[in-house]
Amino acid sequence: MFNKKTVLDIDLKGKKVLVRVDYNVPIKDGKVTDDTRIVASLPTLKYLLSQDCALILFSHLGRPKDGPDPKYTMKPTADRLAELLNKPVQFVDEFVGPKAEAAAEALKPGQILVLENTRFVPGETKNDLGLAKQLAGMGDVFVMDAFGSAHRAHSSTEGVAHFLPAVAGFLMEKEIKYLGAAIANPKRPFVAILGGAKISDKIGVIRNLLNIADKVLIGGGMANTFFKAEGYPIADSLVEDEALDTARELLGSGSQKLHLPVDLVIADKFEDGADKKTMPTGPVPDGWRIMDIGPETVKAYGKAVYGAGTVVWNGPMGVFEMPNFAEGTFGVAEAVANSGAVSIIGGGDSVAAINQAGLSDKITHISTGGGASLEMLEGLTLPGVAALLDK
Ligand code: ADP
Ligand code: MG
Repeated sequence: MFNKKTVLDIDLKGKKVLVRVDYNVPIKDGKVTDDTRIVASLPTLKYLLSQDCALILFSHLGRPKDGPDPKYTMKPTADRLAELLNKPVQFVDEFVGPKAEAAAEALKPGQILVLENTRFVPGETKNDLGLAKQLAGMGDVFVMDAFGSAHRAHSSTEGVAHFLPAVAGFLMEKEIKYLGAAIANPKRPFVAILGGAKISDKIGVIRNLLNIADKVLIGGGMANTFFKAEGYPIADSLVEDEALDTARELLGSGSQKLHLPVDLVIADKFEDGADKKTMPTGPVPDGWRIMDIGPETVKAYGKAVYGAGTVVWNGPMGVFEMPNFAEGTFGVAEAVANSGAVSIIGGGDSVAAINQAGLSDKITHISTGGGASLEMLEGLTLPGVAALLDK
């Protein structure tokens, strides 16, 4: 199924290894506030250390606009990694250039160096091959373990793979195994749950899943656009008018697989303290807006996932950040966690919701990549994977 070489397939003994990690993590006051992605990189790093490799790590962090910006330095991630590995981790405040090269040159087996934010260099996001070549010059082998960035063809994710032997790390392999199997060979019944704010982000995913899943359950703000396309007023609910034609087309395709909420929680303001009401799906009164799916929908969706072979979930069912409108999301989370299915969750907010619900231990696979997991569910090939050596 996973047809790319991994760190286990090539001789790495004593090599200087460039590792693209995904350390795009939240930072506050110079400290990492959620180290999930750093922890997820440890199996690969520990394996490489066991092979006496010298490790040169790099990642992007945030979206720096015009070159270096101290707000987006990788330094806090190097500090957190040192704590997690309980060993020194060097940091150099340059991604490529004389300082980075000198630090890489001096690196001994068993030592670790974190380079500065890849996006401090403008060529990165343009997949500048000169930059990729310069980066490749610092090591002997390239290990791609940044699943969350693999859908972007950048110098540090794709370009560099053309200049060195390039293989996948364990995180990359694991992500693609789970998400790839769900798409290519799902245990059935295969139920997909899609929600979140916008339908336009996920149209490709809905289309692809309508082809391969047995049921597609829609919730969240995304459902509103479908309701409007069906022709009834949704008052002040979030809607994407640009996506109405697509919603009409998907509804009109006559697919029996597509399920919309049967009841809703509405509010008179977009705030946690607003007045709220539960109503069957239908015209929303003036001045009100849809905030969550209702209890009947939670029941129906719970029934659909119970006994499923595979459940893939992306996108909260409501405005779960407000406790008064979180019941739909947490109810569905509970059902997924107890479904007995192979369960896969992707998307930054969906992962936050499952963690908040305290149910992450009961989920088979929680993806570290939002956009990358969506592109996989869309059936697309990720450029950062395609560039690796074939098995
Ligand atoms: P993910 O990060 O899991 O892919 P998205 O970013 O697509 O999810 O969507 C998450 C956001 O959608 C949350 O901030 C949530 O508040 C919002 N949302 C969900 N339902 C609604 C709704 N009915 N109205 C407005 N916003 C909603
Ligand atoms: Mg999100």
